[in-house]
Formats: sequence, structure tokens, C-alpha cells
Amino acid sequence: MTRTVFLDRDGVLNREVGFVSRPEMLAVFPGAAAALRRLVEAGFQVIIITNQSGIARGLYSEQDLAAIHARLHRELFGLPRAYLHCPHHPDERGVYGFACECRKPLAGLLHQARELFSLRFETAFMVGDSARDLLAARSLPIRTIYVRSGKPPAAELQSLAAANFTPHHVAEDLVAAVDWILLQPAIQAPPSTKSPR
Ligand SMILES: [Mg+2]
Ligand SMILES: [Zn+2]
Repeated sequence: MTRTVFLDRDGVLNREVGFVSRPEMLAVFPGAAAALRRLVEAGFQVIIITNQSGIARGLYSEQDLAAIHARLHRELFGLPRAYLHCPHHPDERGVYGFACECRKPLAGLLHQARELFSLRFETAFMVGDSARDLLAARSLPIRTIYVRSGKPPAAELQSLAAANFTPHHVAEDLVAAVDWILLQPAIQAPPSTKSPR
């Protein structure tokens, strides 16, 4: 069974600049592609899960996001297995304006990934620069890594503490997070059971 690393996008793979609404706004971190290469060579699949409420806010469309992810995928040498996003926001109007179950800190995108791909949460990691990235995994057996390369870390770490949540690891950036992941012993996942969501 393939092991999985879930990655938030902005602030993890590329610079956090607020809303990325055009491909030219993507600034992929030096070293990000090489870090993904190390994960894939070690047998991990990489799945990006990202809140994209800019769609609900009318800042860009699903088609724009597809173009942004096509460029990101090229810059990452095709290494990610999938990009799953939440286009919703509870305070907006229109078709995307509702309280969904996929906007992190809810776990909907993680569950979507489990249904789409062969994966086990017990052997998975989640890397994020926002408190809500890691809180999405809080009720699941996923190991969490906070990276300081995106949103101002003091406030995010404070949010995690306020939520009584301690990440398994805190790293400077994705490269350091991957260093740590590759040092973790592979957990023997319990036998597969059909569990309700
Ligand atoms: Mg982020
Ligand atoms: Zn959603």
C-alpha cells in the first residue's frame, strides 16, 4: 500500500501571496520539486489539498485554477498524484457560497482523497503552514508537520496551541519537513477494514 504525503499548496510549495489568481503569480519555492522527488523515490504519493475560496469570492474561476495547477504541475515535474481543492466559502453567495465539509479545518478533502486513491491515513503525513491545515487531520491517524515558510508562524502556532493541538513536528520549510518524514520508521498499518466515514 502506497504511503501518502498530503501537502497544503500556498506557503508550502509556493510563496504565500494571498490569492493566486493567475499562473504568473505562482512562485514555487526553490527546492520544492527536488523535495517531492525524494518523497516519490521513497515510495510516497503526494496529494495537494488546498482551500481555494477565491472561487467562491469571484476572484478567479475553476478554469483559472486548472490553468494555475497545470503550471504548478509542470514546475513540479509532474510529481504530485493529485490536486484536490475546496472552492467554497460559507460567507459568500452563489453556487459556491455554503458551509461545505471540504474547507479545511474540516476533513472533507482528506476523505475525498481516501475514496479516490488507494491510501491509508495511518501511514500518511500532512504538511501545512496554517493551523487549519493540520487541524483538518486532528481526528484522523495522520502525522502532522507544521512548516514556517508561509503564513506568519507565531499566529498560526498560537492558533494550534489555542486549539490544544500539538503538531508531530515543526520544520522550517518543505525541504526540512521531507528530511523528517524520510527518517520516520514506516508504521505497520492495521489490517484494512471497511470503516464508515
Ligand atoms: Mg497555506
Ligand atoms: Zn468546500
